Amino acid sequence: MSTRTMACLRARLPQLLTALLVAGCAAVVQAAAPLVRTQAPGYYRLMVGDVEVTALSDGTAMLPVKDLLINATPEEIARGLSRAYLDSPAETSINGFLVNTGAKLVLIDTGTGGAMGPTTGKLLDNLKAAGYLPAQVDEVYITHMHGDHIGGLSTGGVANFPNAVVRASKAEADFWLDPAHLASAPAEARSGFAQAEAAFAPYVKAAKFKTFDGDIELVPGIRAVGTAGHTPGHTSYLVASQGSQLLVLGDLIHVGSVQFPKPTVAMKFDSDSSAAIAQRIKTFDRAAQGGYWVAAAHLPFPGIGHIRAENGGYTWFPANYSLPH
Ligand SMILES: [Zn+2]
Repeated sequence: MSTRTMACLRARLPQLLTALLVAGCAAVVQAAAPLVRTQAPGYYRLMVGDVEVTALSDGTAMLPVKDLLINATPEEIARGLSRAYLDSPAETSINGFLVNTGAKLVLIDTGTGGAMGPTTGKLLDNLKAAGYLPAQVDEVYITHMHGDHIGGLSTGGVANFPNAVVRASKAEADFWLDPAHLASAPAEARSGFAQAEAAFAPYVKAAKFKTFDGDIELVPGIRAVGTAGHTPGHTSYLVASQGSQLLVLGDLIHVGSVQFPKPTVAMKFDSDSSAAIAQRIKTFDRAAQGGYWVAAAHLPFPGIGHIRAENGGYTWFPANYSLPH
């Protein structure tokens, strides 16, 4: 560097330092934006013919799936999870589905009510974020009476859906809501029966709990489909409009990465795992052959997509993101 250049730089040093300082401050201001760390509101809209379906997230729970799945070796479970970039415990969605037929507003399953920790219990907030109010719900249909599906029915003995009639299959109600079953249940199973009794109590008291028997149409456009196995009266619901169908599966599947490729893998807490497997295969075949939309309580939110039968199992195609139009 020449003496002249050095002298020039020395003369300009204060301006250069100021420029560097300003650039540094600007960088600091940008880095100081705090992390937001919240998720988008948990609802997703889909039209099925003329019927509007809104998937509602209740949140997620960490499921120790390697300890819960049966009929698979630990290696098969690990391989299925790792292919999907998952591990055990696996963060697992809890989804409900709000169906507006144009004549009736029907909620299928109500989430946990927060019973599975602070990442759960968000279904009511998401129903409101989706533009509805709990008081507008005309009917609530329950796929089965496990806590993560009925926990949102009531809070502290008060109905969360004050104008709704609640419906479930007779077999499911007979199993969970019979006081004799609570009394005779082993200690570790008692809380499930007690939780069901408490969740339904305000509706039973107001004569707003009604059971149904068999595969019947409950309101125009929504039909019950018996899929007993996971629980004694487990029920799926078929929404149909203008030649389009959506089958709300309930708990016919929990861990897609393992159970789609090998549908004979079952859950420890199935009340009859052979029946649960048979219903999974029968219902998946029906949905695959018919090209139905399906909506599942525990597939990644929104849990809506299509099923294709291939390679001795099934492949899951999540809904292509779509805006209402
Ligand atoms: Zn469940």
